[in-house]
Amino acid sequence: MTGVDASAAEPQLEWDTPLFRMARAQFQQALPHAEVSELVAERLSFPERAVIVSVPLRRDDGSVGIFPGYRVQHSTVLGPTKGGIRYDPEVSLGECAALATWMTWKCALLRLPYGGAKGGIRCDARALSPRELEKLTRRFTSELIREIGPQTDIPAPDMATNEQTMAWMMDTYSMQMGHAVPEIVTGKPISIGGSVFRREATGAGVVMVADQACRRLERELAGQRCVVQGFGNVGGVAASELHERGAVVVGVSDISGGVHDERGLDVPALHAYVAEHGSLEGYDRCERVSNEQLLELPCDVLVLAAREDQVTGENAARVQATLVVEGANGPTTLEADAILAERHVPVVPDILTNAGGVTVSYFEWVQDLGRLFWDRDEIRRKLSDKMSDAFDRVYAVADEKGITLRQAAMVAAIREVAGALEARGIYP
Ligand code: NAD
Repeated sequence: MTGVDASAAEPQLEWDTPLFRMARAQFQQALPHAEVSELVAERLSFPERAVIVSVPLRRDDGSVGIFPGYRVQHSTVLGPTKGGIRYDPEVSLGECAALATWMTWKCALLRLPYGGAKGGIRCDARALSPRELEKLTRRFTSELIREIGPQTDIPAPDMATNEQTMAWMMDTYSMQMGHAVPEIVTGKPISIGGSVFRREATGAGVVMVADQACRRLERELAGQRCVVQGFGNVGGVAASELHERGAVVVGVSDISGGVHDERGLDVPALHAYVAEHGSLEGYDRCERVSNEQLLELPCDVLVLAAREDQVTGENAARVQATLVVEGANGPTTLEADAILAERHVPVVPDILTNAGGVTVSYFEWVQDLGRLFWDRDEIRRKLSDKMSDAFDRVYAVADEKGITLRQAAMVAAIREVAGALEARGIYP
């Protein structure tokens, strides 16, 4: 006997990785409180469809590299699937499946007529030239041409992808169709049908939620000492919004490490530095800290806006913040959730906190389909209404059932999808 009984092991599905198991465990933790049928519980445990492609790229030096690409669609019960495209060395089928599952809950919680999807290419975007990134994006889009569509699956930016990436995807898709199809992606430049306020929407939404969470704790956001991990689209905008609303941003970080100043950082100066140098690396006008140290700095609010798996069973006990706000997807592990809950540190979950991005993406898609565009104030007001409504529903479920905010957000989301799935039934 080797100690391994292969026949006894559960059949492993290809997406069955630690991150996907985490997404599924969160679902299972919420299920007993959601009161849904077994059929619903079983069906929503699996993504509906997963595609793997290999994307060839002729590099600038003439050599050819092959990059794995993925797109996972978790649920089409409520409408077309929606979700980001990320370029990252850790992109895998399991990561996309987990993120697609969270997107389903996020869209349902915000009452958007979408299911969740996620995709990406396993690559180091920083090691590719703009020309290489364009070719990679266009070929990836061509490989997915039968999977995506304005009524089937609508991509958006995520880690290391941006408006330009979406413009290349929109153009490639439109070339294949023979006419402009702006509604194929969201998060694209305004000049080709993008929405005002989409770029700021996720970070701004994070701060709207942080503000409301502070009020529930009978605190004012202004004056709160905040630490923000991640200084990209989500974290960079969140740090600016916090700064503008009078909160004191005492620490921020990116992949190159963190910066700390107890008296408050000069956030506009940090943005100017990153715009010039590409990252925070070398910024020496305050104390430098590692990303590990950053998470453990004394502060009131910790905004996690970098990536998954940051607050874990190993460091959760040392987190000093009294409120954790998840701007990134999946930044707090199940073990960390349990430790923080025991310490009475509320964690405002990702599917609520970072939903501003997909909400304004939905507004963008609606505007594109109608060829009728709204102004910034109208979008900001519509976003604020949607976020507040979801926030109140999550807190009401948490109070009623005595469960964590994550479980409550999941319960509210699962019930939305369950209602639709029960009505539609299983085909045939
Ligand atoms: P981004 O690429 O613009 O920024 C990511 C930032 O995190 C960068 O500053 C990067 O240097 C930093 N980073 C990466 N790894 C890090 C690490 N180990 N430690 C510290 N910093 C690190 O990406 P983004 O769009 O801001 O996305 C960040 C997170 O928010 C992701 O989890 C993403 O899925 C989620 N999210 C993004 C959106 C959106 O609209 N962009 C919407 C919802 C959720």
